[in-house]
Amino acid sequence: MSNQEHNPVEQQVIVISGPSGVGKSTICGELVQRLDNIYLSVSATTREKKDSEQQDREYHFISTEEFERQIEADNFIEYAKVFGNLYGTPKDKLAQALDQGKTVVLEIDVQGALQVKKLYPEAKLIFIFPPKQTELQNRINGRGRDDEKDIEKRLAGAGIEMAAGWQHYKHIVINDNLTHAVEEVIQIIKKSGE
Ligand code: ADP
Ligand code: 5GP
Repeated sequence: MSNQEHNPVEQQVIVISGPSGVGKSTICGELVQRLDNIYLSVSATTREKKDSEQQDREYHFISTEEFERQIEADNFIEYAKVFGNLYGTPKDKLAQALDQGKTVVLEIDVQGALQVKKLYPEAKLIFIFPPKQTELQNRINGRGRDDEKDIEKRLAGAGIEMAAGWQHYKHIVINDNLTHAVEEVIQIIKKSGE
């Protein structure tokens, strides 16, 4: 899919949420490949870096003290505690990307999305659902990133996250066939309105 033609999109804020393992990062990776003028935000987190991850690629991995210092310095657009760790969207790079006329994509949880929606009422909130709940476990296991305890936490939180998604999100996409799901997200991004 990554060799397809690039498509320009207008400046806007896009939030992608969904339960762990549903395919958010995979879909966001495809958006970056396929759309021009797009900036995928890299969050800061206090969770430990996994072997498959690289500092400043998946996340800015920082200590709790540093995260708290950055909260005090008002460096985050939003932040939230998710699965026992802090995650936040850095303000400076997002502001810079919007100044450059880019479309900004945030891959964050529902708590964070609701904070973003208050700041950017025109933001598009897209929630990704699995074709069936049991598929989440298959995908998390297949990814091979998390240990048993982390997997348990993520599966235990999936129901609440999906209920909040139904309640608060305007756009719902089911990630069964990846190509179709990416197409649907691109259609939502390209349509006018929130
Ligand atoms: P998330 O970011 O939502 O936690 P990931 O993007 O890391 O999820 O995806 C979890 C796993 O599921 C990855 O191994 C990914 O390759 C796989 N995956 C993503 N989308 C699909 C799909 N439509 N069908 C099957 N597997 C998928
Ligand atoms: P993981 O630890 O599995 O990579 O991420 C756990 C969850 O944290 C993700 O499903 C995502 O929704 C959420 N998340 C990642 N970055 C941020 C962020 O910057 N802010 C908020 N609020 N949530 C985030």
